[in-house]
Amino acid sequence: MAFPLLSKQLDLLFLLLLYFFFLIILHNPITKSQNLLFYTDCPTDANYTRNSTFKANLDVLFSSLYSAASVSGFSDDTVGQLPDKVYGLAICRGDLSLEECQKCLNTSMQEIVARCPHGMSSGIWYDYCFLRYSNQSFLGFMDTDLYNYDWTGSKVTQPKLFNESLAKLMNSLTTRAAYGSPLMYAAGSVNYTDFSKIYGLLMCTRDISKDDCFRCLKFFIGEIPVCCNSRGGVRVYAWNCNIRYELYPFYNITAVDNTSSPPPPSLPLPPPPPLPLPPPAAPLSPPPTKDDGGGKSGATNTIVIIVIVVGGALCLVLFLFIYLWRRKPVRNIRPKDGRDGEKILYSEPLLFDLDTLKAATNNFSVENKLGEGGFGPVYKGTLQDNKEIAVKRLSRTSRQGLAELKNEVVLVTKLQHRNLARLLGFCLEEEEKLLVYEYLHHKSLDKILFDSTRRRQLDWRTRYKIIEGIGRGILYLHEDSQLKIVHRDLKTSNILLDKDMNPKISDFGLARLFNIDETHRNTSKIAGTLGYMAPEFVMYGHFSPKSDVYSFGVIVLEILTGRQNSFPQESGQLEGLLSYVWKQWAHGMAFEVTDKYIIEECPTQDVLRCIQIGLLCVQEVPSERPNMESIILMLSSHDSTTTLPAPKHPASLIQSGMSNVVEFSSITVNE
Ligand code: AMP
Repeated sequence: MAFPLLSKQLDLLFLLLLYFFFLIILHNPITKSQNLLFYTDCPTDANYTRNSTFKANLDVLFSSLYSAASVSGFSDDTVGQLPDKVYGLAICRGDLSLEECQKCLNTSMQEIVARCPHGMSSGIWYDYCFLRYSNQSFLGFMDTDLYNYDWTGSKVTQPKLFNESLAKLMNSLTTRAAYGSPLMYAAGSVNYTDFSKIYGLLMCTRDISKDDCFRCLKFFIGEIPVCCNSRGGVRVYAWNCNIRYELYPFYNITAVDNTSSPPPPSLPLPPPPPLPLPPPAAPLSPPPTKDDGGGKSGATNTIVIIVIVVGGALCLVLFLFIYLWRRKPVRNIRPKDGRDGEKILYSEPLLFDLDTLKAATNNFSVENKLGEGGFGPVYKGTLQDNKEIAVKRLSRTSRQGLAELKNEVVLVTKLQHRNLARLLGFCLEEEEKLLVYEYLHHKSLDKILFDSTRRRQLDWRTRYKIIEGIGRGILYLHEDSQLKIVHRDLKTSNILLDKDMNPKISDFGLARLFNIDETHRNTSKIAGTLGYMAPEFVMYGHFSPKSDVYSFGVIVLEILTGRQNSFPQESGQLEGLLSYVWKQWAHGMAFEVTDKYIIEECPTQDVLRCIQIGLLCVQEVPSERPNMESIILMLSSHDSTTTLPAPKHPASLIQSGMSNVVEFSSITVNE
């Protein structure tokens, strides 16, 4: 305060230094990309002890992987005999120098032990290298089960043009990585506008076949529009292939000029085997537009640099003007490092401050409470910018440590679909575990469907839209999201409705964080949930996509009838919903089960088809239930000539006869 002028000059000096630093970074492609830790996979199901043979084998494996991979950029190996045998592989990015590769391998070997202590099977992904080991054989098998997407860029301004150029680049790099390079690696760029390019880098682990490499890359590239449409930068990390693209050269351009063949000099390899080029599985674009370092491209680069420098200077002046005249208050929502100082790459989602969420929810006041589900209470909140949120205050103890919980939550936030409630971020502070969701205006479906007054808002078209939307959301979780999530707790209170009555499934992915099968047995809300649980899940804890299909069937029948599938004793009704619908169906009177509020307006054929689908889903034998893909097809086939399979008795009827439905449930609960 005593030297306001001096302070302003220092600020100015600081900003100028920052600006020049920014320019220097822009000029040096390799420093633009740092070797950041991206993800660690530490399954906790099997552990080794400190002085075990497995640990000794793991140490030998690390040193063998290090020696071989730091020379050739890739190594896979096995050490020891069963049951202490350990399988492993290590790979460096193809554009790196020997030194950078060694450094990354060294760090990853130390970090994997620190982050996954005693784990018998783990993987660690850095920008520069990837390390994996396991007591289970995995070498040579392509596995797309685990993956992680992260976008680094904001949305581009010309999405159509961008997506076309990106597809062209990805197609050509895929072919080159799979079939044109012994390193199973390719990098290159394509012009996106006159002034900007997209730079891409694709690689596979070299233990898989060329065809598998091709399939792996295609598979994850196909997911990019779903997870990260029109984002200027995306990274995909999976067990057998990695993909990255940016709007700036993040790899070492000079080292990749010769990636097709022979391999770059920085990572010399033994002479490659002859390359039979099998025909690719899908039609491909012509060879890549690889113009790094050409004459025309040089001129373009100069223009780009001039534009950046001039643009940067203008921005700086503008920024200075704003900064000096109007100092803004500190933002209250910000991405930051984890509490323990661990760096996790957050593009989105946001890590929220506890104070921000307390302020938004009026200190988690009773008035703000929206409801309470299996994982704890949910509060409505309003952020400073008036954005409405729903904050779920997790009351369960996670089965995982804090770091893993964070990683898992970050993964779940990447699941995005129009029929999934969007997880905006989270807060893990002071023993609080809070998940922040978009606020959905109409709250949960149960609150409308089972309220005799509000139910009238749900006309036939809306109900059909809700059924279809839920189906699509589940299909995404089961098939399309790559995480292959079984929800395990689908019920009407987990179906939220937005302003336009579009359904959004909530609580997906939480079963991965908590032992939901355990929690179900303890919760006082068990009866509500039991009505939706497949018999094999209730009795043996077996869950699969087909147990979700069962829950979906119950929800469909509830939506059509407006009746809850609670148990007879509880609801005061004489029989359970499934039994009632089945009997009506068997007597050719299925249409009679339709909710009285829609029966007048709804098309008979469509309702009957939905009832039939509902009954198919709740069949006893999981394999006889259709999968979500066929369900979506059945729902959308309005063609009266399409015949659906005839449903068998619903599960509970076969199990123990009508009168024993309640007993069947409660015996299991008390186990
Ligand atoms: P849950 O724990 O997800 O079962 O949530 C409990 C209740 O809180 C739900 O039944 C909803 O009524 C309400 N709720 C949960 N999430 C939201 C949200 N994102 N928007 C509005 N209401 C919500």
